[in-house]
Amino acid sequence: MTHGFTSVRQIVEQGYCVSCGLCSAISNGRAAMGWTAGGNYRPDTSALSDSEEKNILSLCPGINLTGPFDANSPALDPVWGKIGDVSMGWATDPETQHRSSAGGVMTAINRYLLETGQVDFVLQVAAAQDDALHSEPVMIRDPDDLLTGSQSRYAPVAPLKVIYQALDLGERFSVSLKPCDIAGVRNLQRIDGRARDLIFYTQTMFCGTTPARSETEAFFDRRDVDPASLVHMQWRGDGCPGKTKGTLPDGTIVDGPYSELWTGKWQTQFRCKICPDAVGLQADLATGDIWAGGMPTGETPGENAIIPHTDIGLQVYRGAVDAGYLHVVPLDIDAVNDSQPHHVALRRTFGTRVAATTAAGHAAPNYTNLNETALTATLTDAERDATFAGTRERVSKGQADECVDFDGFD
Ligand SMILES: Cc1cc2nc3c(=O)[nH]c(=O)nc-3n(C[C@H](O)[C@H](O)[C@H](O)COP(=O)(O)OP(=O)(O)OC[C@H]3O[C@@H](n4cnc5c(N)ncnc54)[C@H](O)[C@@H]3O)c2cc1C
Repeated sequence: MTHGFTSVRQIVEQGYCVSCGLCSAISNGRAAMGWTAGGNYRPDTSALSDSEEKNILSLCPGINLTGPFDANSPALDPVWGKIGDVSMGWATDPETQHRSSAGGVMTAINRYLLETGQVDFVLQVAAAQDDALHSEPVMIRDPDDLLTGSQSRYAPVAPLKVIYQALDLGERFSVSLKPCDIAGVRNLQRIDGRARDLIFYTQTMFCGTTPARSETEAFFDRRDVDPASLVHMQWRGDGCPGKTKGTLPDGTIVDGPYSELWTGKWQTQFRCKICPDAVGLQADLATGDIWAGGMPTGETPGENAIIPHTDIGLQVYRGAVDAGYLHVVPLDIDAVNDSQPHHVALRRTFGTRVAATTAAGHAAPNYTNLNETALTATLTDAERDATFAGTRERVSKGQADECVDFDGFD
């Protein structure tokens, strides 16, 4: 199967850009990433050569995504794909568990990989030097620096803009990013032997949308604080979930509840509304929160749901447990479904959502092996009709590349 897009600009204008930055890497920086008025982070598509256009069109994870449900795969979980194991776990190092987003599993695994010499560095994100609300890709070699890039950063970032710089180092590394970023890495690995050889391990989180930057700015506007004046920003962490908080130059902390960003309507990029894989089907290991019902009911020390998908994912996960970096207890996949109702809903409806965008005149993406038919068949006629009509209305109202109002997937 192939997609129906004819230009990179069309990907952006029709709302399929995920802001990963792979196009910027492919074009050697010509597709420079920049902010839109509405708080999205988008490439400049005006100066791309024909060959850059062609390469980006074939690798962009916004429009090219292949899941694990191929004809030869054994029976997989319809939502979560290949499950090597399911557990609840946390970092055994108390500081990592406390400071990280959930239980510090991603940071603890990265530490295990660095300290055992299985990788030379970790590609992840961290706060930008000159803009507390923004994030940049970082390549971390010193395990003690990993905590500078832990915690969820709930705003757009383009980590894959440095993917060729990372590969040019000729060293082995792990990638610790969002599902759409991992999809870009996988697309590259399909055509680039160097990417296959050097990227040893990929891990991701379940990702319930990337809110627009304007959502975080609004959090501070409500408190009469200029977001540009902040010297530090964290959306969660220091407990689970911890508070959303910014720090002013004089050390004053301005904070509010984690749930504020995720309650009522928020603004997000359109592609997140139709995402076929927000759960990290393609990563070696995926992890997320484990809150019954989908939202926290109080503070906890920090714990993750953990799903290794691949052989290497399982090997690294077991290695980290055996070496004492992670503490885990067995979990049933039903508990993950219960704690991620929005992801179950999105997996069941993404096929209908994508169909509605094409029915409204947008180009068709190349999404394969994602269990679309079986998941769509679980919808009632009423669910399918309402989902289709909702997405089609958004598209016909012109809501595509600019941020869209969002209030959940069901
Ligand atoms: C945009 C976003 C949406 C999320 N939605 C959900 C959800 O719907 N359900 C759920 O259970 N969990 C969600 N999470 C994940 C959750 O908040 C935790 O990040 C996850 O449980 C891992 O926790 P941890 O303590 O192991 O991570 P940590 O040890 O704190 O490490 C976090 C890792 O995530 C990477 N990271 C942080 N922000 C970004 C970003 N914007 N882009 C790319 N990489 C990033 C860091 O580089 C680091 O490697 C989301 C996270 C993000 C960033």
